[in-house]
Amino acid sequence: MKKLISLTTLTVCGFAFEFDLKPIKVSENSYYFEGKKEYFSPSNGGDISNSAFIITKDSVILIDTGSTVEYAKQLKEKIKTITNKPIKYVINTHHHPDHFLGNYVFKNVNIYGTTYTLNEIKSHGELYVSNMANLIEDTAYTTKSLSPNKVLKEGTLKLNNYELEVYLYDGHTKSDVVIFDKNTKTLYTSDLIFNQRALATPHADLQKWIKTLEKLKKFDFKTLVPGHGAVAYSKNVIDENINYLTFLDNRLKNSVEEGLDTFEILSLDVPNEFKNYSLFTQEYERSIINLYPSYEKKF
Ligand SMILES: [Zn+2]
Repeated sequence: MKKLISLTTLTVCGFAFEFDLKPIKVSENSYYFEGKKEYFSPSNGGDISNSAFIITKDSVILIDTGSTVEYAKQLKEKIKTITNKPIKYVINTHHHPDHFLGNYVFKNVNIYGTTYTLNEIKSHGELYVSNMANLIEDTAYTTKSLSPNKVLKEGTLKLNNYELEVYLYDGHTKSDVVIFDKNTKTLYTSDLIFNQRALATPHADLQKWIKTLEKLKKFDFKTLVPGHGAVAYSKNVIDENINYLTFLDNRLKNSVEEGLDTFEILSLDVPNEFKNYSLFTQEYERSIINLYPSYEKKF
């Protein structure tokens, strides 16, 4: 009987996943939440990517909203423990589900995304929700997709008198947003940078990505907030990403030249420096399998 009652209560109250989010200070007015360097699972509730926020005079600017509505709700509560200023602006860095599926919690605020990102979310958002439910189960059940309501353009973005520089690049996807906060010299790179975590390439163009990373090296930043993994304080992290992408690009090109099949490529040796990245085996395999057909056509 007791069991029956607790089960009923559970159904009525709904499922509550405890994310235990910890804001990490980046500068005097900015923080980030570091996602786990894991793949989506019911035990991490989809908390695998970074979100960040900047406190301005009268508002908070949030960069990315995570994988679910439940995550975003808890994110909002955690931000309240740091500042009582309202979240008035949200920026979606790109259309990947772990970066925007929390948007619905901010349905009454200005949500910025590029035209490409906005359209991708509009057309595939609900599909991303059902995929997420397959991957993480219960925690995704309250999630609804919501696309940005403001178009983000390259240039200076003035929000509540706080200036941010917005750059539109590509490589990880067809539209990756980089935000430079000159006030604190913080560079928010979105998923163009993964720190000590193997890069995810489902929508990537490796050669374009490498070119974009060369551009990121020109920024005079003090702190770099990546899309996955810890913050970095030097350009080494950009070089590491360039090295990995160059390795992947060369491996794919050489394999076409040698007429290898996917299994043969995956059995080749890999430099140790890359093997130490979180999720290396999964992401490397996924990259080779996804990208090889296009290399076979091109080279
Ligand atoms: Zn991504």
